[in-house]
Formats: sequence, C-alpha cells, structure tokens
Amino acid sequence: MDSFSSLLSVEEARSLILSRFFPLGKIRVDLFGAHGSFLAETITSPIDLPYFDNSSMDGFAVIAGDISEASEKKPITLRLVGDIPAGVLPENGICSGEAMRIMTGAMMPQGADAVVPLEFTGLYNQPDDAIVYEEISVFSPVEKGAFLRKSGEDITRNAVVLESGKLMRPQEIGLLAMLGFTEMLVYRSPKVGLLSTGDELITHSGRLAPGKIYDSNSITLGALIHKYGGDVLHLGIARDDEQSITRLFDFAIENRVDLIISSAGVSVGAFDCVRSVVEKNGNLTFWKVNMRPGKPLAFGSYGGIPFIGLPGNPVSAFVCFEIFVRPALLKMKGSEQIREIRIKSALLEPVQSDGRESYLRASVFKDGDRFFARLVEHQGSGNLYSLVKANAFLILPSGVKSLPVGAEVDTWILDSYF
Ligand code: AMP
Ligand code: MG
Repeated sequence: MDSFSSLLSVEEARSLILSRFFPLGKIRVDLFGAHGSFLAETITSPIDLPYFDNSSMDGFAVIAGDISEASEKKPITLRLVGDIPAGVLPENGICSGEAMRIMTGAMMPQGADAVVPLEFTGLYNQPDDAIVYEEISVFSPVEKGAFLRKSGEDITRNAVVLESGKLMRPQEIGLLAMLGFTEMLVYRSPKVGLLSTGDELITHSGRLAPGKIYDSNSITLGALIHKYGGDVLHLGIARDDEQSITRLFDFAIENRVDLIISSAGVSVGAFDCVRSVVEKNGNLTFWKVNMRPGKPLAFGSYGGIPFIGLPGNPVSAFVCFEIFVRPALLKMKGSEQIREIRIKSALLEPVQSDGRESYLRASVFKDGDRFFARLVEHQGSGNLYSLVKANAFLILPSGVKSLPVGAEVDTWILDSYF
C-alpha cells in the first residue's frame, strides 16, 4: 500500500496537468457557432447603442416643458400631429403644444424631449387608432428625457465591449448581433480521442452476457467532453493487451487529436497495460494521485500528444474528469479561469473517509440563506447511480477521516439548476 503522503496531491496533479496545456489556434466562427467558445479578439463597438433616440414606452412624444403643470384635475391638451410606428423615420418634428403618437422602439421626432406613456393620457383604454383623434389630454407631467432611450446610453461608438478571453454565452453573442457583427474570432475546440479499455467491455449497443458489462464510460465521458465544448473522436474499446491499446492510440494520433483520454487499465492489475503502452511511445509524468475515488490517474504524452488515463470505475472516471480533464479542455479553449462553483454547505449526517482527499457524492439544497448537504447513499466508486442522485461533490481535505453533523464542508456544485 502506498504511503498517501508520498503521492501527488489533487492540487499538485492539477497544476502539473494544467502547466502542459495552452490555448489552441484561433478560428473565425459565425454567431450560430459561437456558443461556449472563448473570444480570441477584443471587440470595440462600431456604433452607438441605441443607434438612435427612441421611445421605451407606447405613448406620445412631447416637449416636457409643455406639460409641467398637467394634473388629473387640470389636464393639458396637446395637438396630435403624427404617428410613429417602430421602424419608421418620423416625417416631421414637433413644436411647442404638439405631440406625436409613438410606439416602443420607434425613433423620436425632432423637437420632442420626453415620452408620455399612454397610461397618463385621455387615450388610455380608448379605441386603438389614435390617428382618428386630433388632440390628447395629458394628466401628468414627465421629466425631460423620461421614457426615452438616448442614442449611445448603453454603449458608445469605439468603446471596448468584450475583452479577449470572454466566454461567449447567449447574451454576448446577442450583443454582437446588436452591434452588426456576423462573425468573430474564437479559440478552436479541442478534438479529444476517447477510448475505453477492458476485456469485460461490450459496446453499449451490443448484447450483455455473463461476465461482461456495457462500456458506459465512453458514453459518460463523451457527454462530458461535449458538455465542456470539446469534439469527441470515439475510438471504441481496446482489449487488455498492448497491441490493441496501441492500435487505438495510433489511430488517435493519425486523426490529429489534441488530447487522448482513456479509461481503466492504469492500475496495478495483471492486465493493466495502458501505462506500458504510453511509456513505450511517450512518457508518463505520474499515475497516482492522493484522492478518493480515483487514485489510479495517469498523465503523460503519447506520440507528442497529451494523454490522461482515467480510472475505470465509472464514478472515479467522472470525478477525475471534472477535476483534471475539464480545466485542461477549458484552457485549450482559451478560458483564463477554471470556472467551478464552490460553496460551503452544512452536513445533515456525519461523513467518513480514509484520509485521502475525498470527493463524496451529495445532494445539496438551499434553505433560507444556507446550503445543506446529504450523502446520496452507497458511495461505491462503481455506483454511477449515486451520481444520478447527486448534484454536488463534498470535498474532505486530505488528513480528515470524519466530520460530524453540522460541519461546514467545501462543496462543489455540479449543476446550477437544482
Ligand atoms: P480497471 O481500472 O481496469 O481495474 O477497472 C476498474 C473497474 O471499472 C472494473 O470494475 C471495470 O469493469 C470497470 N470499468 C472499466 N472500464 C469501464 C467502462 N468503460 N465502463 C464501465 N465500467 C468500466
Ligand atoms: Mg480493467
């Protein structure tokens, strides 16, 4: 048995892995293909936003000074001189004593300096077509500038709006559309060669037989790669022999992957051949980390391409992916941060560990302004169902073997919707 203290800590292993990854090349993508990418250029606005002064309400464009004395008891009457639907250039301006009907988003006419919402006028709840009316009565004053969106009040022309490295979420992409961009420069997505190893594995579309199990890791890990913005090259299942593993690794290299991920076969079992294959065609930086689950975690390179060998147990593979592979993918995609949601939660039951840094599967919920955590039953590293019930990892630091009810624990939230 290893002395835990001689093994790499999770933090050391993660830093070592991250030091070997860099942002990939830049590519131009259109707005539809940008979601989840990281920007590789700085965006300055070519226009003022709003582009023109416009109304933020359905109502009447007026001169605020004309109606400063207006009240319910003493409404002020203004002459209606036109109608401005959205998308239309006002035909003329207004002078003192005049108003124009205006729709939300429509361009303000010359001369007007405020909008009176329909609700403050005698035409509220009246038949729709105001143009049949020649005048309106206004029951309330409005400030100069009220209910209008001034040109440039959100963004001014030439202002820097998005810095390089920014994650392209729906709102960033929408903003680029508002500014008239059709494409942008982002870091390209990593192509990840993914293989499973093990004589017991059959493909998920095959037939189960005694002694065999479905290869679920290819599916779970493939979905995780996809979730974090990588492109998956499914390499399939290698048998527990060096030749079979080498063949799939070489296929990955021929297909110019940016990273090779394998699962299983990196432990100390008689048929764990992945390590020897990697050592023959590259190098192994480490293959054990002081953590639970997931002690057998290998990192190195094969044919000049980075390689991460995840444990075979489905939960261990998942946990190690989140800790080690996800940040590597994000760094290749140009992210400058690791982006994890870590909070503190209070234990609703006591927890135990063996003293290695532990990632326990838990269900976390919010009550008032505090978070509470409960373990999701059986914590076996093969029990993927525990992860189905979980929405968080509880992290017990190395050296801690038990924690009582009520203890505040580091908690890594896996989904933001729970
Ligand atoms: P190993 O690391 O090869 O000793 O595998 C550890 C455990 O994970 C064994 O119980 C394997 O059967 C299981 N396992 C390995 N690969 C997979 C896979 N692709 N899908 C599901 N379970 C797996
Ligand atoms: Mg095996």
